[in-house]
Amino acid sequence: MTGYIQSLESNSPSGVSLLPEGIARNSEGGQQIAQVVELTTRLQTTLELENLIELFFDVIKSHFKYDGATFQLPGEALAINTGEQCRHNINYSLKVLGQPLGDIGFSRSRRFKDTEAKMLENLLTTLLYPLRNALLYREAIQSAFVDSLTGVKNRTAFDSNFHREVELGHRNGSELSLIVLDIDFFKKVNDQYGHSIGDYVLKCVAQAVEATIRSSDALYRYGGEEFTVVLSGTDQAGALLLAERIRQNIEALVFASSKGLSITMSLGVATLNSNEESKHLFIRADEALYQAKEKGRNQVAVAE
Ligand code: GH3
Ligand code: MG
Ligand code: MG
Repeated sequence: MTGYIQSLESNSPSGVSLLPEGIARNSEGGQQIAQVVELTTRLQTTLELENLIELFFDVIKSHFKYDGATFQLPGEALAINTGEQCRHNINYSLKVLGQPLGDIGFSRSRRFKDTEAKMLENLLTTLLYPLRNALLYREAIQSAFVDSLTGVKNRTAFDSNFHREVELGHRNGSELSLIVLDIDFFKKVNDQYGHSIGDYVLKCVAQAVEATIRSSDALYRYGGEEFTVVLSGTDQAGALLLAERIRQNIEALVFASSKGLSITMSLGVATLNSNEESKHLFIRADEALYQAKEKGRNQVAVAE
C-alpha cells in the first residue's frame, strides 16, 4: 500500500462524527467502541499539536502495529517523526470539511493488510477533531505574538523572547546586540499625509528592515513607530554595520502612492556586557537612540 492516500472526511449533517461507521457495525463492536471512546478521551487531554500527535502515535500502537510514523503539516516545515522508515507505507491526507489538517503516514517492513488499513482509518477518525482544535489553538497562540498591521513580531513576543535570548547569550558565552529604531518626525507624516499613509509607511519600514537583516535576526514592532532588532551571535561592530545599512535603506525608500514623501530613522545600538540583565541592555540601547535623536536624527548612536 505504498503511496496509498485517502481523504478522511466526516459526512454527518453536523460535520461531527462521534463514532466511525465501520466500528459500530463490527461484530466485536462493543470492545471496539470502548477502544474508540478511550482513544477519543485521551486525545482530548491536550491542545498542543506535538503532544497530540505523539500521544496518538503512542496510544494506537496496541491496536495497529507499525515501525515508523510521520506527521507533516500542510505547507509548513514542521514534521513529527517516530521510529524508522521501512519498505511498506500507508499514508493519509487528513481533512475536515475540506480543510487540510496534515498528512500522516505509517511505515512497516511487513505489508499492511486491508483489515489493518480499515482499523487504522477508524482510529484516524478519532484524531480529526482534536487535531483541528490543536491547529486552531496553535494559530491563536501564533497570532497573539504577531503585530496585525506590519505582520512582524509584536511587543508581547519581544518581552517573551528577549530575556531568553540574553540568558542564552550568557550561558553560551556568545555575543548579542540590540538595535532600537524609531522613525523621525513620524507625527508629521500622519499630519501631512493622513493616518492611512502613516500605516502604509509603517508596513514599508517593517518590510525594508526585514529585508535587510538575516533570518537569524529578529525584528519586533515594540510599539507605535518604534522597532527593535535582536542580533544573536553579533558583536558591536557587526551590529553597527547592520544598523547603518538599515538607516540607509530606510532613507532610500520611495513611496509610490505619496510623491515627495521620504522618511528617516534614528537607531540606538547596544551590545551585551557580561552579567548584564536584559532590562539594562534595553535601557542602554534606548539611551543610545535618544542620543541619535539629540544629535540631529537620521543616524546611528552606540551605547557606552
Ligand atoms: P521623533 O523624531 O522625536 O521620534 O518624533 P515623532 O513625531 O516620530 O514622535 P512622536 O512620539 O511625537 O510621535 C509618534 C507618532 O507615531 C504619533 C502617533 O500618532 C504615531 N503612531 C503611532 N502608532 C501609529 C500607527 O499604528 N499608525 C499611524 N499611522 N501612526 C502611528
Ligand atoms: Mg519617532
Ligand atoms: Mg517613538
